[in-house]
Amino acid sequence: VFTAARVAAAPEDPLFGLMKAYREDPSDKKVDLGIGAYRDNNAKPWILPVVKKADDAIHNDPTVNHEYLGIGGLAEFTSAAQKLIVGADSPAIREKRICSLQTISGTGAVHLGGLFLAKFHPQNPTIYLSNPTWANHHQIFSNVGLKIAKYPYFHVQTKGLDFDGMLSALQSAPEGSVILLHACAHNPTGVDPTQDQWKQIATLMRARSHFPFFDTAYQGFASGDLVRDSWAIRYFVEQGFELCVAQSFAKNFGLYGERTGAFHFVSAPGPDAALSSAHVASQLAILQRSEISNPPAYGARIASRVLNDPELFKEWEADLRTMSGRILEMRSGLRERLEKRGTPGSWDHITSQIGMFSFTGLSEEQVMKLRTKWHVYMTKNGRISMAGLNTNNIDYFAEAVDSVVR
Ligand code: PLP
Repeated sequence: VFTAARVAAAPEDPLFGLMKAYREDPSDKKVDLGIGAYRDNNAKPWILPVVKKADDAIHNDPTVNHEYLGIGGLAEFTSAAQKLIVGADSPAIREKRICSLQTISGTGAVHLGGLFLAKFHPQNPTIYLSNPTWANHHQIFSNVGLKIAKYPYFHVQTKGLDFDGMLSALQSAPEGSVILLHACAHNPTGVDPTQDQWKQIATLMRARSHFPFFDTAYQGFASGDLVRDSWAIRYFVEQGFELCVAQSFAKNFGLYGERTGAFHFVSAPGPDAALSSAHVASQLAILQRSEISNPPAYGARIASRVLNDPELFKEWEADLRTMSGRILEMRSGLRERLEKRGTPGSWDHITSQIGMFSFTGLSEEQVMKLRTKWHVYMTKNGRISMAGLNTNNIDYFAEAVDSVVR
């Protein structure tokens, strides 16, 4: 019989354990480079000015109420989210072969996609995840019963992409495998394929009939340019792939706690594509209904106002440049400081990597020394959240890194 006494304690989530240790550290020098959330130059959460504006407008709108949204979410939000990721002029939209549901942020979108594939893929497929990847991918896909395999991604020596390793793993994966791809600003490495490499990945995946599952959590946040950060997805759509996309608005709108995201399924082009797309949409709606019934309204209302208003959209793009620009400054500032000190090792990867994170190459031992001796908190794999650096702590952090690698 079931009894709570049989339930063993779960291991602590490593990231949340790290946050707790940081909070409990009384040092006034402490630096938090753990959590993947944007911080301003004073290490404080930043409400995007455009989000504040949209939020105020919602408060003053007498037509807004607290009714349920539909199962698929706020229609003006999902249609705008769709245009944002595949492009307003995408053949997938024109040919009515993309369907979109609002989800519980990116996590919920990844989950809905995993659940859908587990249920409707005829072969109980294996999903291939980059090694390493966002840790939650493993939990989400195993929870829905997908088999998980890894493809090489990070090259330890170059601290860049292990492109040959990646291609050969995708080549030998069983035909029709599901391949999880980070659309931009790969988490945790900050390493992305170049456009030419993406083209080669697409060619190989097409030859092997693999199914691309894109995870996009950093559009606009990575380069500051929404189109550039969605290039890979748009390219795969143009190439006629059937694919899906899990889209998060947590980082690029700073709507972390509002759980704002979308799941998109693009059917392959063809005479029956629109019909297949409608079938997929109807099945996704049933899955969504049993899991969350209907998604939360608040964050989607904010994002929708911004995405659908040309003036606010422009302001949002400026806010994106503020965030990505500050992170780029921290990247070049850190590299410059380490190189000036003659810190052993090469540090050009700090500026070639992109997005929220940098995979520093620091060992677990060095990470622990940074924590105990310098009150600097980062994950054991040497990943730092670039947004945790600012003009007040960057010198201190460079000094700390220099001391632990010598
Ligand atoms: N996917 C990746 C690669 C991420 O890094 C994240 C957040 O860190 C997510 C998805 C989902 O985040 P959220 O559920 O907060 O949108």
